[in-house]
Amino acid sequence: QRHKLKYKRVLLKLSGEALMGDKGYGIDPTTVEYMANEIKKIVDIGVEVAIVIGGGNIFRGVEASVKGMERASADYMGMLATVINALALQNALERIGLQTRVQSAIEMRELAETYIRRRAIRHLEKGRVVIFAAGTGNPYFTTDTAAALRAMEIGANVICKGTKVDGVYTADPVKDPTAKKFDEISYIDVLKKNLKVMDSTAITLCMDNNLPIVVFNIKKADNIKNIVVGKKVGTIVKG
Ligand code: UDP
Repeated sequence: QRHKLKYKRVLLKLSGEALMGDKGYGIDPTTVEYMANEIKKIVDIGVEVAIVIGGGNIFRGVEASVKGMERASADYMGMLATVINALALQNALERIGLQTRVQSAIEMRELAETYIRRRAIRHLEKGRVVIFAAGTGNPYFTTDTAAALRAMEIGANVICKGTKVDGVYTADPVKDPTAKKFDEISYIDVLKKNLKVMDSTAITLCMDNNLPIVVFNIKKADNIKNIVVGKKVGTIVKG
C-alpha cells in the first residue's frame, strides 16, 4: 500500500453545503458518510488531513445581517453552525474507524478542544484527522479565510477546496453552458477576473505565502485521493 504522495499534509476545505446533500438545508447523514469515506481514502495512504468546515447549510452571517441583524452577532451564529457541522463530520469519521479531534476557534471545552496550533500539528503527526471549527473565531471573516490561515499555520502543502463543480471556470458553469474550465490559473488572475474560488482575503493570504489551492468536485468519488497522488484533477491556483 505504498503510494508516492504529491501532498503529505492537506487542508481540506468543505463548505457547509457539502454536508447538505440535496436537502436544501441542514445535514444529510448519507452525504456526511460519503464525505467521511472520501477522507478515509487519503488517511489510509498516509496523508495528514486537517479539515475546515463551513456553516452555510445552517446559517450565514451576511444573509442575516442584510435582513437587519447586527453583523457581528449574525457571524457568531454562523461560527456556531460550523461547530454543529464539525461534530457531525467527526462522528461519521469515527464510525469508520478514524481517529479525530475537533478544535474550535471559540472555546467550548465540553465538546471540542480549543485551537492550539502545536497541538493540532501533533495530532496530525499521530495520524488523527483534525477538524477546525468556528472559522477564525472572528466576525467579518469566512471559513475560506480560516482555511487559508490554518493551512499556513500547520504547514499544509495544499488547500483542497471541495465544490459542486469540476474546478474554476470562466463563468458559473451551472448558469452558463459556454463556461470553460481552467486547468491552472494564477492567484492574481483569480482576483482580477473576480472568479468565485474563495473570497479575496483567502486568495490574498494564499498568494502572499505561495500556498497552492486545488479546486475540485467533491461529489466525484476518488477525486481527493487522485489529487494527493498527483493526478490532474480540477483546477490548481498558484503563482
Ligand atoms: N464566520 C465568521 N468568521 C469566520 C468564519 C465564519 O464570522 O472566521 C461566519 C460567517 O457568518 C459565515 C458563517 O460563519 O457566513 C458560515 O461560514 P461560511 O459562510 O464561510 O461557510 P460555507 O459557505 O463554507 O458553508
